[in-house]
Order: sequence, then C-alpha cells, then structure tokens
Amino acid sequence: MLVRGVAFSLDSELPFEARSLLEDFRLAVNNAVRAGLQARVTSRNALAKIAYRDFRELHPRMYSQHLVSAFDVAGSILKNHRRRVLKCATSRIPYVKRQMMKVENQAYKLDRKSGVIDLPIRAGCHVELRLVASQYHRKYLDDMSLSLGSLTILPNRVIVAFRKETPKPYVVESALSLDTNERSLDGVFVEGDGAKAIKAEFPDIAIIQQRHHDRRKRLQKKKAHDRRTSRDLCRREGAREHQRIDYRLHQVANSVVKFAEERKSAIILEDLKGFKSKRSKELNRRLSMWPRRKLHQTIEYKAQWRGVPVVKVDPRNSSRTCPICGRIQDSRMGAEFKCECGWHLDRHINASINLLQTAISKGMAGGLWFNPGAFQHDVMMILYEPAMAARSEPNGTSGVVGVT
Ligand SMILES: [Zn+2]
Repeated sequence: MLVRGVAFSLDSELPFEARSLLEDFRLAVNNAVRAGLQARVTSRNALAKIAYRDFRELHPRMYSQHLVSAFDVAGSILKNHRRRVLKCATSRIPYVKRQMMKVENQAYKLDRKSGVIDLPIRAGCHVELRLVASQYHRKYLDDMSLSLGSLTILPNRVIVAFRKETPKPYVVESALSLDTNERSLDGVFVEGDGAKAIKAEFPDIAIIQQRHHDRRKRLQKKKAHDRRTSRDLCRREGAREHQRIDYRLHQVANSVVKFAEERKSAIILEDLKGFKSKRSKELNRRLSMWPRRKLHQTIEYKAQWRGVPVVKVDPRNSSRTCPICGRIQDSRMGAEFKCECGWHLDRHINASINLLQTAISKGMAGGLWFNPGAFQHDVMMILYEPAMAARSEPNGTSGVVGVT
C-alpha cells in the first residue's frame, strides 16, 4: 500500500472546540511519551496497555479513538528518539510544542465531493471543517481508486493521507539510465536500437546549499556568545533551505518519472547506499550527498506511485570503466572519459552507460541492449533545466508520508 499526504487549507479558522482538542491531543502525546520512557516501551499497544486507564482520568472527555491515536503518535516519537539516542545524537527528552493531532480514518468522515470533514470532538459534539480544494486537490479527492487514510490537523492546515494499492509495474520497452551528480543527472535513453544522451540540470541546488552553509557558519560565529539564539537562527535557516531545495528536487523527479512513464522506460539509478559519509572527511561532502539521496527517494516514490519500474545498480567503477572494451582506468579525472581503444565521451554520460550495462548484465533491463554504434553523441535531450521552473503543482504540497 502506498500513502501520499496532501495538504489542504481550511476556508475559515479552526473552530474553538477543535483548537482545544488539538491542545488536549498535544498534552496526551507528551504524557504518553513520558509514560513510554518510564516503562521503556515504544509500541502503540504497549503504551495503551500501561497508560490507557490513567489517560481516561487525565483526559476524561476525549473521544477514545483520539486517545489511541495519541499513543500511536507518541510511539513513533519514541522510536525516533530511541534511534537518535543509540546514535548518541541526543539526550533530550522529546516534547511536542506545536499543536497538532492525528485522526485515524475510522474516526472522521470526509465528504469527498463537498470537501467537508466531520470531526467528532467528544460524545455528542462534532465540528465541521471545510477544505479549500484547487484543481490539484481535486485530482486526489475525485480519484475513487484512492482510499482515505489518516488525517493530520494543524492550526492552519489539514493533511489528508490518500492510499493506493501499489500499481503493478508495466512491461519495459525502453530504459533511462541516469548517473547522479551534484548539479545534474546525466544519462542515456535507450529505445530499440538507438541511444541518446540525456540531461537534467539543477545547478541552483548546490548554490542554495553553499549559500546557506556559508550563512550558517557566519551566524554561528556572530552569535558564538549566545548559543540558543544561534541554534534557533540556524534551525530556521535550515528549514528554509530544505523547502527551497525540496521544491526543485520534486520538479526534477517529476520530469524524470513523466518522461519514463510516457515511453514505458525502466529508470536505472546508482545505488547510493555504498557511499558512506565519512565523518572525518570534509563536511561539504556530507552536505552535497543528501540532495542526491533525497532526489533518488523522490524519484523512486513517484515512480512507484505510477507503476514505473526503478532498477538500482552497484555504481562501483562506473566512472572509470570503458563500456566498450571493459578497461578500468586508474583515475577518474577530467570532464571527458578517454580510452585507449578509442572510445571517448562525457564522463558522466559514460558512467550512466556503465550503469545501464550492469543492469543489462543482471537481466534487469528487459530485453534491451546498448549499441555503441547507434549512440548519437551530438543529440542531447534536456529533461529539466532551471528555466523550466514553472509551477507544476499550484496551491498544494505533497510529500511522502510513508509506504506500508
Ligand atoms: Zn575502451
């Protein structure tokens, strides 16, 4: 089952009862987190077992489905916390400051035509929330093959989870092999006998990252005497950076998946798992890795949603190998790959051909093959470039909620 969270704004402010429910829910989550830490449990059922009775007394009027959902939210907070403690990344006790609540799908009703949510507060008291639905939102509301999942309510917006059976990937007719670099995806598109070079450029992501990195460094220096202000400022900077980069990554991923879907291609990517970020090495390297990982995640997620097959292959030596004669070179310097056998090509595109060859040799690319004789060096197809940054998803943001 695939899940996609779609954010809606409301046509008016949250009614008073809903706001106090949000506050109650926040308190309940924090109480459950504390109880879970004390009893050293993290699962929703275990939390319910140890704390349900106390909670009925603490929150006597809350609808019981909402209480169970509070255990669920607390459980995932506790799991994250435990993971971070194991990594020695934190020792602080988690605490939810922002008002929020999660409503299980049995505990609310949404009329998909009118966009009205019926939310029970407690016995005999319900409120109505009216969603503002743009064309983008309508796509989800009107698609009856999507079922409704949980609802997340925040003071200024509502996130509806839409669920979908994982679609069966189509039979592959072509392949799109992409080498992932800091500023671009470079690759080769193979269809029948022919092969063309292809590119998606996103130079602005590295620029945004560098700029924020520098600004953060300056802030830390300037506010060295006041660590709390410095931390808060850096956190705000970080959130803004993420948002701006995220938006671009979504667009790049969209263009890749759309291209593949229209041509019934398999998308071939390098498996980035092998790239362990070494702490001792430059921080810059770590900084430049996450957008690539995020880009892969986004492509894979969007591809899965539309039934586009994605193949991940081991990238070892992919930038140093000659795809024609198989020689492996010592160094990978230079923008052009040149081999003794006479083969020469843009280094990144050459790497993508090696990824393709690996996929072919493992039988993961259907019956396709790469024919170097039919490769058109001079034709470069552009999948994405910064000038194409026209908004494709107006009035809405969609994000990965999770895959179950
Ligand atoms: Zn060669």
